[in-house]
Amino acid sequence: MIKKRKNVLGYYVDIIDFDDAIRFLNERIQNKKGTHVVTINPEIIMAAKNDYELSDIIKKAALVVPDGTGITWALSLQNIQQVRIPGIDLAYSMLECANSLRYRVALIGAKEEIIRHAEHNIRNEFKDICICYSHNGYFGIEKEKEIISNLEENNPNLVLVALGSPKQEFFIQKLKRILPEATFMGIGGSFDVWAGAVERAPEFYRTIGCEWMYRAIKQPQRFKRICKTLPMFAIEAIIESVALKFDKKENKNV
Ligand code: UDP
Repeated sequence: MIKKRKNVLGYYVDIIDFDDAIRFLNERIQNKKGTHVVTINPEIIMAAKNDYELSDIIKKAALVVPDGTGITWALSLQNIQQVRIPGIDLAYSMLECANSLRYRVALIGAKEEIIRHAEHNIRNEFKDICICYSHNGYFGIEKEKEIISNLEENNPNLVLVALGSPKQEFFIQKLKRILPEATFMGIGGSFDVWAGAVERAPEFYRTIGCEWMYRAIKQPQRFKRICKTLPMFAIEAIIESVALKFDKKENKNV
């Protein structure tokens, strides 16, 4: 399996299809190659541009999949066709793999009631799954130490962290030091969906690349986040693609 990396505003995005991403992650887990999966979207890129630490974390991730339609759109401006890989779908398929391949799974994030419901539903769906540890995502420094030490003790292969971005990326960065062989995924609001508290966008919205719009209609507070980042991201992506085209033309003429 060959994984190519392309650049969007200075950040790598892996050009990969869904099945290859799953194969890649299974290979990494089975060979105990510590892996951080970033499910990238325009908001994360724009935040990383103003945050050196976040930027560094994202640039070092072993797999960066385009979770946001904005990312696949920016790639298409560079004539790169890449399907969107929603983090929630990738994580769900990894739970299927964990069930059949006997991985040890840890779940961290969301409100207490949500994580309990999500865990219950996951156990119902995947009868053989080994969830070795789970905790809600609302904790202070002292509790964090306890969570980290519990995770170290339970030694999971796959850790799903749903604290929202960039909190989850920073927490994963801490966990990578104590679980160097584990695979980590930041999965945003996925537990809310798996718990049944938040509805996933219908197939139609997903197919036309408008899941983000559906989520914003359902949770209007998201519009503020989107409006703050999306226009600037779009402008910069257009400028980048035009600059790349000029570069290519100039190289041809040399
Ligand atoms: N969350 C958390 N701890 C926090 C802040 C947020 O566990 O300190 C959870 C929150 O309850 C929600 C998720 O993180 O389940 C963030 O979801 P959101 O929809 O904002 O993430 P997105 O999918 O947009 O990345």
